[in-house]
Amino acid sequence: MTTPQPPHIALFPGAGMGHLMPFLRLAAMLAKQNSIVTVITGQPTVSITESDHISSFLHHNPKINHLELQLAPSFQQADSAPVDPFFLQMHYINQSIFLLHPLLTSSSPPFSAIFVDFPLVAKVAPIAKTLDLPIYILSTTSVAFVSLMAYLPVLTSNPAEFNKNSAEIKIPGLPPMAMSSIPPVFLDSSDLFTSTILTNCQALSEAKGILMNTFEWFQASTLAALNKAKVIKSLLPVLPMGPLEPYHLPHDDNGDQYRSWLENQPALSVVYISFGNRTAMSRDQIKELEKGLENTGWRFFWVLKTSKVDKDEQEDAKHFLNHSFLEKIKDKGLIIKGWVDQLEILRHPAIGGFLSHCGWNSVMEAALEGVPILAWPQHGDQRLNAQVMEDAGLGLWERNWDWGPNVIVKGEEIEKKIVELMTDEKLRVRVKEVREEARKAIGRGGSSDKVIREVVNSLIT
Ligand code: UDP
Ligand code: UDP
Repeated sequence: MTTPQPPHIALFPGAGMGHLMPFLRLAAMLAKQNSIVTVITGQPTVSITESDHISSFLHHNPKINHLELQLAPSFQQADSAPVDPFFLQMHYINQSIFLLHPLLTSSSPPFSAIFVDFPLVAKVAPIAKTLDLPIYILSTTSVAFVSLMAYLPVLTSNPAEFNKNSAEIKIPGLPPMAMSSIPPVFLDSSDLFTSTILTNCQALSEAKGILMNTFEWFQASTLAALNKAKVIKSLLPVLPMGPLEPYHLPHDDNGDQYRSWLENQPALSVVYISFGNRTAMSRDQIKELEKGLENTGWRFFWVLKTSKVDKDEQEDAKHFLNHSFLEKIKDKGLIIKGWVDQLEILRHPAIGGFLSHCGWNSVMEAALEGVPILAWPQHGDQRLNAQVMEDAGLGLWERNWDWGPNVIVKGEEIEKKIVELMTDEKLRVRVKEVREEARKAIGRGGSSDKVIREVVNSLIT
């Protein structure tokens, strides 16, 4: 009798920290469960943060292997059109995918499966097929947005019903989605974001399942509609295995400033404000947010981002902020320009609320740490994510705060909603329940724990 061999799993994220972090979290979880793990990344990365984070993660997880897919040089030049550099990177990785086959075949022991980012699946699937390698998608968004992406080919083929005058869209078997929550670029099939999604939808049936950074309790009815009622025929099993467990990297010096500041704040007194790693705020909106924060009376920790990519963040935060604002808030506010350890911050007892763009990782982190969210979605999947977050009872969403970047929300409105967030005791009780459910799901024998074990066991030979 031969002894069962641990599976060797390749994890292949696309671009941006919002994609890299869930892949690295899953890598660390799989390695803990005795799988052999190899992370494949497109090099060079778009941001400095991605490159620093990959190095630090690998240094502190020496058992995890790394393969670099060197992007073909002709695809590295930025286009003159103002295309999102992270979307462009997905495109460059796809254009360089012919380099994946040799990477996969040169590894020992041979791979048992590949877990890939959704924007890469169409190009990776044929390679996986020639190698007889099972392929799973690891999704970085909500189940609601996955349903929308999977149904997009049907929607775009019916312009009479899917156009800018439609009030809502209907995916049979799911609650209607307000048209105002659908990314406007979905009406343009030639847009890079939209066309990548349409292309990748064609490969959905090639994968064995979609691994989701969510948990059964949080999106139960949508999961039941997709998995049990099969309301979208092309969709594979949707497998909730989150919130993906955070891994620990030792502190960097960068964080000393905010750690000591947080230590001196009373419990539940601080609003944490962050819009993720790729959403910049306009100067006009910064002014209004200043007004709102100055007047709330609540303490705040604001991670200010003024450029999409960190390489372009050269100016000091002070250059973007009003001098009198900085004077007035100096005892109650902290503003950081640069990367912070968000999870550590959300976990801190001083944090009482989170003003968030509702990037999906942020939603799951708030659920895991039990921090109520005030949603301020900016683009992409974020309005649908905000809806899911609100439906689950994790926070508030002011729908009238329209998509950025051309809309300015007034300081008084921000002030009012922050006060509401920080004083809503019923919400705080509900959020504790969300946290308990999240922890139960990932605890031994919990719904997410079972899913991940089943997937890994199915790969043992
Ligand atoms: N993040 C962080 N520090 C920062 C900015 C972001 O730790 O200064 C992390 C955050 O915790 C989350 C990820 O980066 O895990 C961002 O993903 P999300 O889906 O929330 O938003 P995106 O950046 O993709 O819009
Ligand atoms: N996505 C895609 N192609 C891209 C970028 C994103 O198909 O080039 C998909 C991907 O599944 C992602 C979702 O669209 O989770 C939402 O993308 P968005 O840019 O809103 O979020 P982020 O990339 O920050 O996670």
